[in-house]
Amino acid sequence: QAKRQGHNHVQVYQESMSLQFKSSAAMRSSLQEAIERNQLALHYQPIVRCSDTATVGYEALLRWEREPGRFIPPSEFIPLAEMTGQIIPLSEWVFRRACEAAVQLQQHGPCKVAVNLSTLHFNRSEFKGFLERTLEDTGCQPQWLELELTESILMENTDYAVDILQSLRDKQISISLDDFGTGFSSLSYLRRLPVDKVKIDRSFVAGIKTHRSDRVLIGSVIKIAQSLNFKVVAEGVETPQQAEFVTELGCDYMQGFYFGRPVPLDDLFES
Ligand code: C2E
Ligand code: MG
Ligand code: MG
Ligand code: MG
Repeated sequence: QAKRQGHNHVQVYQESMSLQFKSSAAMRSSLQEAIERNQLALHYQPIVRCSDTATVGYEALLRWEREPGRFIPPSEFIPLAEMTGQIIPLSEWVFRRACEAAVQLQQHGPCKVAVNLSTLHFNRSEFKGFLERTLEDTGCQPQWLELELTESILMENTDYAVDILQSLRDKQISISLDDFGTGFSSLSYLRRLPVDKVKIDRSFVAGIKTHRSDRVLIGSVIKIAQSLNFKVVAEGVETPQQAEFVTELGCDYMQGFYFGRPVPLDDLFES
C-alpha cells in the first residue's frame, strides 16, 4: 500500500513540475544547487493550546527560495528528493537548523519545535545516531524537539519503526502522527504506536462551517484519538469559528493561518 502511494506521488510530481523543470535530471541538479547556494530556509508556524491560545511550539516547514521572493513549496520538491536520495542532506540540514532554532526560542519561554520526518532518512540505520549527535552539537534538549511522521512511514517497516520511535520517546523526544484521518490504518494498529499526539488533517477542519457531515466526522476523529490516549492537534485552523468549534469538541492544540502563517525565525516576534 505504501509503495503504491509512493508511485502516485511521483506521478503528481511529474505533472506539476514539468512546467518548471524540463526533466527530473534538471530538477535534481537544481536541488543540488539549492543546498550549495543556500537557497533553503525554514519557516516556523505557531502551535497554540486550545484552553488559552498560548503558543506551545512551532512547526518547522522547509522552503526553497529558487529566486529571490519565489518559494517552491515542499509538496513539489520533497517527493522527488525522497526518490533521488537528496532528501538525506536536505533533512540533515533541516534538523540542524530546527535544533538551533529550538535553542534560541527558549529565550521567549519554553516551547517545542516540530520537524517533519523524511521516510528515507528515518529508515536509515544512522538516523538515531544522527539525531543524538545533532542534539548534542546544537545544545538542543530532547524535550524541545518533536518529530512529525505520517502513517506511510510506519507502514513500510512497522516493527523497526515502533522500536526506534519508542527509544526516541524514552529520551523525551515527542512524536506526532501527522495528517491523521487520511491514512488507512486500523484502530488496533494505531493503538500500539508510540505516539504522543495526532494532528488531524486540515481537510477535516476545512468543511466545518458548511458541511454537517464534516462536523460529525471531525468530532468522531477527535474522540477516537483521545480514546487511544493521544493528544489532539487540529491543523489548518483559518477562522475564529473553526478555532471555537474544535476547542468545544475537546481538541488540545490548534495550528493554522488564523494563529499565524509560517514565517522566518526572525519574524516570529516582530510587531
Ligand atoms: P504538513 O506537515 O502537514 O504541514 C502543514 C502544511 O499546511 C504546511 O504546508 C503549512 O504551510 C500548511 N498550513 C498551515 N496552516 C494552514 C492553514 O490554516 N490553511 C492552509 N490551507 N494551509 C495551512 P507546506 O509548508 O506547504 O508543507 C507541506 C508538506 O511538506 C508538509 O505537510 C510536510 O509533509 C512536508 N514538509 C514540509 N517541510 C518539511 C521538511 O522539512 N521535511 C520533510 N520531510 N517534509 C516537509
Ligand atoms: Mg507536519
Ligand atoms: Mg499535517
Ligand atoms: Mg498535511
